[in-house]
Amino acid sequence: MKAAVLGLGYVGTVTAAALASRGHEVCGADIDASKVEMIASGRSPVIEPGLDELVAAAVSSGSLRTSTDVGEAVRGADVSLVCVGTPSAPGGGTDLGYVMRAVDDIAQALRDSARPKAFHSVVVRSTVPPGTVDDLVTPAIERTLGPAGAAYGTAMCPEFLREGSGVADFFDPPFTVVGTSSAAVASAMTELLGFLDAPPRVVEVRTAEALKYACNAFHATKVSFANELARVFRLLDIDSRQVMELFCEDHSLNISPRYLRPGFAFGGPCLPKDLRSLLHMARMNNVDLPMLAGTLVSNDLTVAEVVDRITIEGGLVVALLGLSFKASSDDLRESPNVQLAETLLGKGYQVKIHDPVVKPSRLVGTNLQFVESRLPHLQRFLADSALEALDGADVAVVCSADAAVIDALIARPPKRILDLNGELGEAVEALHGYEGVGW
Ligand code: NAD
Repeated sequence: MKAAVLGLGYVGTVTAAALASRGHEVCGADIDASKVEMIASGRSPVIEPGLDELVAAAVSSGSLRTSTDVGEAVRGADVSLVCVGTPSAPGGGTDLGYVMRAVDDIAQALRDSARPKAFHSVVVRSTVPPGTVDDLVTPAIERTLGPAGAAYGTAMCPEFLREGSGVADFFDPPFTVVGTSSAAVASAMTELLGFLDAPPRVVEVRTAEALKYACNAFHATKVSFANELARVFRLLDIDSRQVMELFCEDHSLNISPRYLRPGFAFGGPCLPKDLRSLLHMARMNNVDLPMLAGTLVSNDLTVAEVVDRITIEGGLVVALLGLSFKASSDDLRESPNVQLAETLLGKGYQVKIHDPVVKPSRLVGTNLQFVESRLPHLQRFLADSALEALDGADVAVVCSADAAVIDALIARPPKRILDLNGELGEAVEALHGYEGVGW
C-alpha cells in the first residue's frame, strides 16, 4: 500500500521505516526540515535501537521517501497516518494544534489530488482525547471534502510503542486497535498491518482513543504504587524489590484482569481494613502515601456518586438487589452496599433489600455486629425475593447477577435500573430505564 506518515518523531519515524520494511511504499513528512533531511540521508532523527538500520535500508531500497510538504506525501497515498505531537496545553489539556494543522493539510491535499476518486483513510496515531476524531478531525475534513463515506474515512489507531524499544514494540504490539465506523478504513488498516501476528481489533472510535489513556494511566499508577510501598517498607527494614518480585509472581489476582472491571466500590473484611493499616504504618513513619490514601477517598466517591444518581431523579422507593460486599458471600462487613442502604435510609428513602445469599438468621459474630451497627432494623427492610423487593420500586440498584434477580428484573422492570456490576446480560440491558454505573 501507499502510506503517508505525518510527523517524523519517535512514533512517525518508527512507523514509516517499519511499514517501508514490510513492502509498503511510504512517504514521511514533517514540518521540521532537519528531520526530513536526516531520514532522506538514511539516518534516523531519533535514537532507537535498530532504527538507523531500518531507515537506511528502507531509504536505499526506495520504499521510504520524505518531504517537508504534507501534500506531496498525501497525494497518491491510500492512507495517511497522523503521528504529530500532542503536547500538554497550559492547564493540562491537550494541545491539538499540530493534529488539526496536519488534518487540514491532508484535506487540502486530497482535494487537489490527482486521484480524487480513490478511497483515502485518515488515521490518527497520536494520542488524542476521546471525541477528537469524531468531533474535530472528521468535521474539519468534511469542511473541505464534504461528508465522509465513499471518498474517505477516518479512524483512531493508537500506538503502544515505548521509547528505547520502539522498533521491537512496533512489530510486537500488545494489541492493535482500530477505532472506526468505516468498514473501508478498517479493511485498509488490516491490509496495511497484515504483517503483524494478529489482525487489528476494530472498535468504536472513542474506545480506541480512551484505551491509550487507560494504558498510560495504568502504567503511571503501577510505578507510583510500587514506589509508595517502597517508601514505607524501606523504613520498616523490608526490601521492597523482593516483595514486588513475589507480588508479580501472582498471576491469579495481582497481574491479572481481576479487580480491573469497572463497577461499584470495594469493601469487605480485608481491603479497607488493611489499606487503613498500611496508611497508619506510613503515618507512624512520617511517610505520605497520597495515591494509596486516595484510593479510600476515591472509593467513598464511588458510593457518593451512586447515591447522587439515585437521588437526582424522583422516586422514593429503592430496591437494593445485593447487600454483601460480593456475590456468593454473605459477608456484610464494610460492604459498600450496606453503606448505600444506610445513606439512602438516612435521606428518607424506602429501601427494599434482597440478597439471594444473605440469610439474616445465619449471620453471626463480627458480621452480625457490623450490620446491626449500620442497619439495626435490617429485618424490616428485607424482602424474601427479588420480585417482592421490586414491587412498587421506582429504581432498582443491582449488585447481584443471580439468575433469580435477572428474571425478576425482566418480569417486573422498575422505571430505572442502575447496574453496579455489569453482569446482568443483554436482556436486562435492553430494558427501558437501564443504566450502567460506568458504561
Ligand atoms: P515527537 O515530538 O517526537 O514528534 C512529532 C513530530 O511531528 C515532530 O517532528 C514535529 O515536527 C512533527 N509535526 C508537528 N506538526 C506537524 C505537521 N503539521 N505536519 C507534519 N509534521 C508535524 O512526538 P512523538 O513522541 O513521536 O509522539 C507523537 C504522538 O504519539 C504523540 O501524540 C504521543 O503522545 C504519541 N505517542 C508517543 C509515544 C512515544 O513513546 N514517544 C508512544 C505512543 C504514542
